[in-house]
Amino acid sequence: MSRIAYVNGRYIPHALAMVHVEDRGYQFADGVYEVCEVREGRLVDKRRHLERLARSLAEIRIAPPMSNAALDVVLRETLRCNRVRDGLLYLQITRGVARREHAFPPPGTKPSLVVTVRASDRAKLEAQAETGIAVVTVSDNRWERVDIKTIGLLPNVLARQMARDRGAREAWFVDKEGMVTEGASTNAWIVVPAGAIVTRPATLGILKGITRAVVLEVAAREGLTIEERPFSVPEALKAREAFVTAATQIVMPVVEIDGRKIADGRPGPVARALRARFHAVAEIGP
Ligand code: PLP
Repeated sequence: MSRIAYVNGRYIPHALAMVHVEDRGYQFADGVYEVCEVREGRLVDKRRHLERLARSLAEIRIAPPMSNAALDVVLRETLRCNRVRDGLLYLQITRGVARREHAFPPPGTKPSLVVTVRASDRAKLEAQAETGIAVVTVSDNRWERVDIKTIGLLPNVLARQMARDRGAREAWFVDKEGMVTEGASTNAWIVVPAGAIVTRPATLGILKGITRAVVLEVAAREGLTIEERPFSVPEALKAREAFVTAATQIVMPVVEIDGRKIADGRPGPVARALRARFHAVAEIGP
């Protein structure tokens, strides 16, 4: 089954899916994106992802390229063309194609919209959740507006590669006060010895993850104590459990930080339970 991409109004074979060299996404990382889980052929938490997309666009002053209803048609059609059962949908909107100049292009320049879908191996992800992942910490050198889901991800790219180079799966950014902000593409959580779940408030230095929001809802339904506050690396090292959340991973246990084991070095019951119950609370579209 060949992959099909949506590029500025056309559905084309993935191998031929191109944007112009003067697209502002390519030249300036002047754009925003979303990644949505595809589960059994349907989008998970589409409403929330589209709400966050609208906010990201407004924050960087790009007019939406089409109505939400029209975008919904594009998303469904891209999904349909690709016949992906389990995977990820990627959507990117940039400020469009224009002569290279830092200031915004002339009014009327059309934003670029690209949508791709790819299959993922659900069994492999489940197997990874059974063993958990290692993370390494890296100082947070990103700009202040990480609440906007922009395609300017160079610090995240370098952090993730550093994690790879050290045999870990994810990097946790740490701010100047020694507090964990978030992962390169995930939100970070711990379960403290008293049993509360701790994650940084989404007002400060992190992306407000959609998975994070749903996990908070799952945790509340399970009657778990939630503390939205920053935590430090030493506190994480003493935690009962640690985990990360993202649309790409749902809830992924973290069993090692900077080469040191968390508790017994195995995924804990809270992360397991949140992972198991996630899709009962998430909104799964038609
Ligand atoms: N934090 C960062 C920096 C991310 O890039 C992502 C996802 O890409 C997340 C957190 C998790 O967000 P979500 O749960 O919406 O996938």
